[in-house]
Amino acid sequence: MNPTTFRRQGILFVISAPSGTGKTTLCENLRATPDFIYSVSCTTRPARPGEIDGTDYHFLSKEEFLSRIHHGDMLEHALVHGNYYGTLKATVKEALTQGTDVLLDIDVQGAASVRKTDDVMVRDSLVDVFIMPPTLEELEKRLRKRGTETEEQVQQRLRTGREESKLWPLYKYTILSGSMEEDLIKFRAIMRAERYLSRRLELTDLPAS
Ligand code: 5GP
Repeated sequence: MNPTTFRRQGILFVISAPSGTGKTTLCENLRATPDFIYSVSCTTRPARPGEIDGTDYHFLSKEEFLSRIHHGDMLEHALVHGNYYGTLKATVKEALTQGTDVLLDIDVQGAASVRKTDDVMVRDSLVDVFIMPPTLEELEKRLRKRGTETEEQVQQRLRTGREESKLWPLYKYTILSGSMEEDLIKFRAIMRAERYLSRRLELTDLPAS
């Protein structure tokens, strides 16, 4: 008897969280997972020490970024903390078509754009997850510990974080952030369940009767 095999389209996992929640570290851990691609965003923000062009972000000038938007290359884009950030459409769509899951680390505006995209394939594959900081005090502590922002930037990110935290009900899943290990376990549980959704599966071979 032929074994039953399934084929499925990729899932577009979107993670949003206020800056400093630990989302970047979470994504770095998830990036180590096989059969999963991390979509490297474009940004006009200057690289932080240690960040690598093409790995952490595609660092673009404002002119280059606006030209990519003009040519329709972006699935979504947003102005976050005074800099442009955006997701390249081609990378995401190619992976989803091949059945590869994609991880996007994007802000709440970007998630809202993806949710209302008129691209049916992208919309159907979307699983959006919000990582909620346990308290605003903890968020401030984590932001300061990172030590990559000036005092003014910390204050701006905290103000934005307070507003972003109100948007959790718009997301399909919300994880209350604990330790990195706890957040990883919770996120992997979501990933696993979403991969078994019947509506995503298509039989490649009917079992012999
Ligand atoms: P950071 O500058 O700390 O790396 O990121 C700042 C914010 O920009 C984070 O909330 C991050 O999720 C968001 N971000 C990163 N890439 C993208 C993107 O491609 N699109 C959007 N909309 N936001 C992004």
